[in-house]
Amino acid sequence: MGDVVQQFFAVKAKIAAAEHEAGRQAGAVTLVAVSKTFDAADISPVIEAGQRVFGENRVQEAQGKWPDLKDAFPDIELHLIGPLQSNKAKEAVALFDVIETIDREKIAAELAKEIARQGRAPRLYVQVNTGSEPQKAGIEPREAVAFVARCRDVHGLAIEGLMCIPPADENPGPHFALLEKLAHEAGVARLSMGMSGDYETAIAFGATSVRVGSAIFGSR
Ligand SMILES: *Cc1c(COP(=O)(O)O)cnc(C)c1O
Repeated sequence: MGDVVQQFFAVKAKIAAAEHEAGRQAGAVTLVAVSKTFDAADISPVIEAGQRVFGENRVQEAQGKWPDLKDAFPDIELHLIGPLQSNKAKEAVALFDVIETIDREKIAAELAKEIARQGRAPRLYVQVNTGSEPQKAGIEPREAVAFVARCRDVHGLAIEGLMCIPPADENPGPHFALLEKLAHEAGVARLSMGMSGDYETAIAFGATSVRVGSAIFGSR
């Protein structure tokens, strides 16, 4: 077994242990394997090992490798986890099954237009900038609940969850707790939180999906 496949199984085992530890149901947490910067040859062994849910942070990079992989494995579910520019909404709706990074009115409007035009409806998350970091994407926490409501009422978008990336240099726990509270207030069920360094913590705070890259594929 190659290193990457071994690391993949190790992450799966740690997720199962963290679910158990947190009193969560087995299988409650979806692993989104983050394959950005890795090519089809690196990704294929993980698909062969049974993984079907993947995350990419750039539309253009994903367009270069995923159409062929999705043809070969039609049950693959591809998540966009990076910032979305409104001029890429068309490509994003065409390729991704889940878009996790809605964070402003203009993107919501563009996505609604493309979903109607293409007749293809990816599942949608709102990204929250839980640390209010100026350089980071995501809606401000105090605006998140109203924004989810506007996505639904103004743009007709069904938001299924919230996503966050806590500040790199802080204890992530309070950020995960904040995201959980906001999701509850907004009436959405799913929480995308936790990366290679903190996914077990995120599971304890109620993550329904974790986005793990380097712990599976190695450093970028
Ligand atoms: C790259 C990335 C990840 C994965 O990060 P690792 O630390 O490699 O697990 C998760 N979420 C987002 C939004 C990313 O861009």
